Amino acid sequence: MIRPAYFDNGATTAVAKEVLDVMMPFFTGEYGNPSSIHTMGTAASKAVSEARKKIAAAVNCRPSEIIFTSGGTESDNTALIGAVADTGKKKIITSAVEHSAVLEACRSLSARGYEIVILPVDGEGKVSADELLKAIDNDTALVSVMTANNVIGTIQPIRELAEIAREHGALFHTDAVQAFTRTDIDAERDLIDLMSMSSHKIHGPKGVGALYVRNGVRISPLILGGGQESGLRSSTENVPGIAGMGKAAELAMSSMTDDVKRMTEMRDRIIDEVLSLKGSYLNGPREKRSCNNAHFGFEGVKGKDLVLALSRMNVMVSTASACSAGSTEPSHVLTAIGRSPSEAFSSLRITLSRYTTDDEVGILLDSLPKALKAVRE
Ligand SMILES: *Cc1c(COP(=O)(O)O)cnc(C)c1O
Repeated sequence: MIRPAYFDNGATTAVAKEVLDVMMPFFTGEYGNPSSIHTMGTAASKAVSEARKKIAAAVNCRPSEIIFTSGGTESDNTALIGAVADTGKKKIITSAVEHSAVLEACRSLSARGYEIVILPVDGEGKVSADELLKAIDNDTALVSVMTANNVIGTIQPIRELAEIAREHGALFHTDAVQAFTRTDIDAERDLIDLMSMSSHKIHGPKGVGALYVRNGVRISPLILGGGQESGLRSSTENVPGIAGMGKAAELAMSSMTDDVKRMTEMRDRIIDEVLSLKGSYLNGPREKRSCNNAHFGFEGVKGKDLVLALSRMNVMVSTASACSAGSTEPSHVLTAIGRSPSEAFSSLRITLSRYTTDDEVGILLDSLPKALKAVRE
């Protein structure tokens, strides 16, 4: 099979060769349990702590402030459900454009008696400090706003929002799954208390993630058992996955500046060319946007038909997010920025990675007008 032109990196990414190499030994020869005290156990335990250091270095925190989870979803759930219980407060503030891992956790907390306030966003998907100031009070346990949006790429003013949360004695959580290793994140500088990361969005394996928990922030674990991860996440560590995630973060950070520059150039070329097509418009901001995200609407076209037409041309894209791809509801992110349901259904998401080539971009830009023509006919 000819290698597809892959533009669905917001859904998942290829595991980097260097990452796979680091993981392999832990499946076979070095398969010890990190809790075992023999040399195979200590070797596994060392691999986990090396990975922890690499994740901590990528977000400027202490290794002891990182816990490994099964992915971005579990990190989001743990941050929200785990952190609010201990605060004794009853209000949680989030935004209308969060990932469903955050919104569904909020829905569950709402059923348990918490008051959930969902902040509106502007036409480009941005949360404003003024809206947060209006909603926040001394009974606010936690504010959760993502760093970069997974559908339309909007980058939020995290530092500004976190400062407001801190001034009101509320915890600040950010879902940084899309931003991790693609924007400059600094847990200390940005006043973040809790932050979610996922491995498979940064060329690591699926099924592993991390949660930053600021020293002093108390969370109750969702998964109880043998007390791994300082008692915050029981179950035998996913050693190959964790080692892979550590390597993925280290690799991404080592070339971040160049990669971001290249992805930004490719993204802007795609935006410029697609906007020259008849009936197309951009969703999300032009500036302050993820370097790897372009998102469009096309008048009179169903996004799903376009995705399938491009797929037949061996070009992989998506409509909104992967987890909503099977949904019959319009994307909540697109309706939050004021798109009508029919506009929301006419959308196309193109997401790049550092491995995206100019050739692939060329194939995409050649194929898209043909796919549009086929779908419109
Ligand atoms: C992919 C994604 C998640 C979920 O991460 P998993 O590791 O797949 O559970 C959460 N939030 C955002 C913004 C994402 O893009």
